[in-house]
Amino acid sequence: MKLLFLGPPGAGKGTQAKLVAERFGLMHIAPGDIFRQEVREGTELGRLVEGIMAEGRLVPDDITTQIIDKRINSREAENGFVLDGFPRNVAQAEALSKILRARNDGLSLVINLVVPEEELVERARTRRVCSGCGKPYNIKLEPPKTQGKCDVCGEALITRPDDNEDTVKQRLKIYHEATEPLFEYYNRDGIVVSINGCGDVDSIFHRIVEALEEKGLSGKR
Ligand code: AMP
Repeated sequence: MKLLFLGPPGAGKGTQAKLVAERFGLMHIAPGDIFRQEVREGTELGRLVEGIMAEGRLVPDDITTQIIDKRINSREAENGFVLDGFPRNVAQAEALSKILRARNDGLSLVINLVVPEEELVERARTRRVCSGCGKPYNIKLEPPKTQGKCDVCGEALITRPDDNEDTVKQRLKIYHEATEPLFEYYNRDGIVVSINGCGDVDSIFHRIVEALEEKGLSGKR
């Protein structure tokens, strides 16, 4: 199974993509998570992308595509993968098609998580991430057991540098301009399914699993 999550920043792609990957034994591939880890580790790539991310802009396509290519063709992705945050523009989508064509492969389904814009802004305001392992929280809806501390590793929770109001607006602008054209791109293949991304995590996950079942994908790897 090769899945792609599309949807604006804050729609819950990361949370749901991880759950789907776990349930079906797929590799979760999220460039945003990869870049944040590089920033935490202070690598050369981390130093290169830190400022770009803080401003809500996109990391150059060649850098991002190379990272994704390596992951898709890695052993961990043998059973399939869930892409979360890639592609984000038509050039990246074309690069992905090329990567998959080279393996005689294609995407099984594109899942569009639909959330109204006002809610996206509110979710970014209440989102925190662990400074140690990157696990996301929502301080209103899914707070940690101990305030300000990660349930998994105990490190401090922080606000993502790109979750301030101005950067969220910038990320939404880029989403509308660069990422939304991907719906038309993938609709041509008739593989887009829209899922209501509002409500609690379990209900949304249930809707996604149902959609996979309807497409006859849930029994597959
Ligand atoms: P995300 O965690 O998906 O919200 O991504 C956080 C940030 O990482 C984005 O605002 C971009 O700066 C960068 N990023 C993530 N995915 C991509 C991508 N496919 N292309 C370019 N930049 C990306």
